[in-house]
Amino acid sequence: MNSFLIFTDSGNVSSQQLLDELFAPGHDKGSCLSRYEAILFRKPSSHKPSPYLLSKLRNYESLHNLCGPYTEAYNKTLEQLNSGLTTDCNYVVYTPLSGLGNRMLTIASAFLYALLTNRVLLVEFGSEIAGLFCEPFQQTTWLLPRDFPLRNQFDNFSQEYPHTYGNMLKSRIINTAVKSSPPPFLYIYLAYNIDRYDGLFYCDQNQDQLGKVPWLVIKSNQYFVPSLFLVPSFKQELSKLFPDEETVFHHLGRYLFQPSNEAWGLITRFYRAYLSKADETIGIQVRVFDTKATPFKTVMDQILSCTLKEKLLPEVLDVQNSAASLSNNQGLKAVLVTSLYSEYYEHIKGMYWTKPTVSGEVIGVYQPSHEEHEIYGNNMHSMKAWTEIYLLSMSNVLITSSWSTFGYVAQSLGGLKPWMLYRPLNGTTPDPPCVQAMSMEPCFHFPPSYGCKADVYIGPGAIVPHVKHCEDVGWGLKLVKDH
Ligand code: GDP
Repeated sequence: MNSFLIFTDSGNVSSQQLLDELFAPGHDKGSCLSRYEAILFRKPSSHKPSPYLLSKLRNYESLHNLCGPYTEAYNKTLEQLNSGLTTDCNYVVYTPLSGLGNRMLTIASAFLYALLTNRVLLVEFGSEIAGLFCEPFQQTTWLLPRDFPLRNQFDNFSQEYPHTYGNMLKSRIINTAVKSSPPPFLYIYLAYNIDRYDGLFYCDQNQDQLGKVPWLVIKSNQYFVPSLFLVPSFKQELSKLFPDEETVFHHLGRYLFQPSNEAWGLITRFYRAYLSKADETIGIQVRVFDTKATPFKTVMDQILSCTLKEKLLPEVLDVQNSAASLSNNQGLKAVLVTSLYSEYYEHIKGMYWTKPTVSGEVIGVYQPSHEEHEIYGNNMHSMKAWTEIYLLSMSNVLITSSWSTFGYVAQSLGGLKPWMLYRPLNGTTPDPPCVQAMSMEPCFHFPPSYGCKADVYIGPGAIVPHVKHCEDVGWGLKLVKDH
């Protein structure tokens, strides 16, 4: 059975397990059932947060309470938005870009940056992801107020916007060498196409300067945590927070992203109906980025080749008579397929329905939705995506598609090292079809390729024992456990 029902003598789930130590006591259970009920559906994580991370989170919560929206300190900081005077509270504001997986990775990165720089994180979700998550902080909110004065400028905030930090450095409106009074706010552009000036964000000298700016508004669709580990002045603090470097998103993701009651209903109903009775669940996430150039058969062959080669799923006999099965194994495996399309699910389901397995196991195959297209601005579309990411994270074994942040979030929340399907090139099935990830951390697809002197090209970057190139993106960076 896949359920992990752990009850105390009184029939209640023990509070230690409920809180998983990451959460401060006192949260209202009714407003966020998942925070209390997740333990009923999955094993407690074997990766424990460090005591230092826990104390940092408790301190952060106090800061957020002091400086959160509409507090006296927040109102004062807003008044000073035009004056440039020093303030008690400093903020980092996240503005949305790209799909759900990208957004979750960037929000976690911005939160880590907030922890490192004593800032308060406020998030602008956009209507499409409103209502997906519980509020992570008690008696306050992380949502950026609707009347935040800079909000109407967010739409103009692109890489070309003259007021980005990178462009201001480039045009020498800002200069790290000259002491001048800090501006009250700055736009930091850190998306997939950062240029050499945007990338200076990751340099100590620039961090010194940014530390004096009360409001930093970030636009990014990247998991930029690995590059924070390469900033010399953050190194010591990060090693205390995360002695096991590959657990950053695992802890911060579970801390920040608890499914809302609506999402939790979708997750738990699906799980109970289709997955809870299986001895093992195998999640298969199929993300095809270029459908025109990638035939169905190429990807299907790749999935089957990976599952059979790595013995993740049993082979089928080439007969339809169930008496032909060679084993009495009565085991039940559930396969959870997530994809925008239904044909992968149909094929795998048909295969295990029409033929017996060599092992004798019975394989149930399920897919919650097939939306056909990526849709922006549709709340239910995002709700389904979040449900599926979470369900994948509950798998015992995970197979994901290269390059997909949707898969990265699932693997990291679940504490899983997935089998990653290589991206097919020229429409052909890659050989080998997949590789097991070296860590559960997401990949930072587009790290800065210039050094701290903007004119020095460093390429994909220097590698240290706990920051390596990703399995799926050669120039990307990811954190691994430093043995
Ligand atoms: P990435 O593009 O694979 O890195 O992942 P993102 O989550 O950032 O963006 C892809 C978006 O497409 C998701 O947020 C969903 O809206 C949608 N999508 C992609 N794959 C799936 C899937 O398997 N199930 C559902 N429900 N939606 C998906």
